[in-house]
Amino acid sequence: MSFQRPRGTRDFLPEEMRLRRELEQRVCAIFRSFGYLEVATPTFEHLELITAKSGEEIVERLYSFQDKSGRWLALRPEFTAPVMRMYVNSLQSAPKPLRLYYFGPCFRYERPQSGRYREFWQAGVELIGSATPEAQAEVLALADTVLRELEVSYELHVGSVGVLRKLLACHGVGEEEQVRIMGMIDRGEMLRAEDMLKELGAGEVTATLRSLTELRGGAEVLEEAAELLRGCGDALKELHRLGEVLEALEWYGVRELRVNLGIARGLDYYTGMVFEAYVPSLGAEKQVCGGGSYSLAEVFGGKPVPTSGFAFGFDRLLLACSQKPAQERRVMVIPLGVEMLKEAVGIAGMLRSRGVSCELEVMRRRLGKALAGADARGVSHVVLVGEELRQGKVVLRDMHTGEQREVKVESLPEVLSSA
Ligand code: AMP
Repeated sequence: MSFQRPRGTRDFLPEEMRLRRELEQRVCAIFRSFGYLEVATPTFEHLELITAKSGEEIVERLYSFQDKSGRWLALRPEFTAPVMRMYVNSLQSAPKPLRLYYFGPCFRYERPQSGRYREFWQAGVELIGSATPEAQAEVLALADTVLRELEVSYELHVGSVGVLRKLLACHGVGEEEQVRIMGMIDRGEMLRAEDMLKELGAGEVTATLRSLTELRGGAEVLEEAAELLRGCGDALKELHRLGEVLEALEWYGVRELRVNLGIARGLDYYTGMVFEAYVPSLGAEKQVCGGGSYSLAEVFGGKPVPTSGFAFGFDRLLLACSQKPAQERRVMVIPLGVEMLKEAVGIAGMLRSRGVSCELEVMRRRLGKALAGADARGVSHVVLVGEELRQGKVVLRDMHTGEQREVKVESLPEVLSSA
């Protein structure tokens, strides 16, 4: 009998895993450079945690199940709800603001295609406890820094669900309907949104909504938006807030962004500024990052707290990175004969204790075969342990050039570290 992986999942072979780990470390190092600290939450949560704010419709996109005690659980589809649950459980009294980051797998029952999986990884942050423009701008600037440092060719679009929601509210559209309409805008179903507005007796807002969501450009777009929103005080206030975030973004040096008031974001916990980053070369699944400002703690029984955050789709980020990290040094210690085995094991142990990773030839192959094997495995340096050991030396072979030289055992770690 042979088994295949479940649909939408992947195996990662050593070379791919090396690239993934390397990218993970680069991204997380940038998060830490802004003062963010790592947290982790369970892979599964109570189903209600996920449906509490995202609605029952999300269930069909979840891996949910009943455990043996009959509890309804779900594999996490993202980290924001779990991190905010953790915040309410354990961190509410911690000094504000809290800067948290996470990295881990998420699960969604989706139709798999290139760049879209049922098991995928997210790397993201939450800044909890500040609603200032500079706090919101920091989160956006952090996402921008990651993309810039990875030398990815990307577009950053910034909008405000606050503006859209307040415009709808201004025309008498209730909270629940707002959520449904925002969902339609997010999926690009503008005609459906317009039909629903007409049914609700708010047909007069459709033209404004359409013009607003089609606006694109620099900060000057806000003036056009203000014209469209005339008479809608609360929406204008939200627009002013977005303007403040855009101003702060200039201080952070984030200039290459586009105002896009058509960003509605699928999940309904966002309150104000929202943003998305796209890598056009990825095609249909080009969105590598999404985030914004939201309020979620109160849904999980906590006190309301302003929060901003984002999540990178890590797998898409990896696809977008054209720059592959350089091949790493890989060392193999080969005993020249069984009688040198004990010494070779000792030298390998000494190298590891001095910070040089290495593997040992354990197949008892003759030298020629052992070298061919090392080459086939991508080994970059071979340490041959033979009779030179009597003079306290080994032979170091560079597998790329074929060059060999004798090296004193005690200086081997240093020589290999600089290789
Ligand atoms: P979201 O939580 O939906 O805002 O997703 C955040 C990011 O995760 C998106 O911008 C995508 O890059 C990534 N993402 C979402 N769903 C998937 C998926 N099924 N496969 C791969 N990446 C995904």
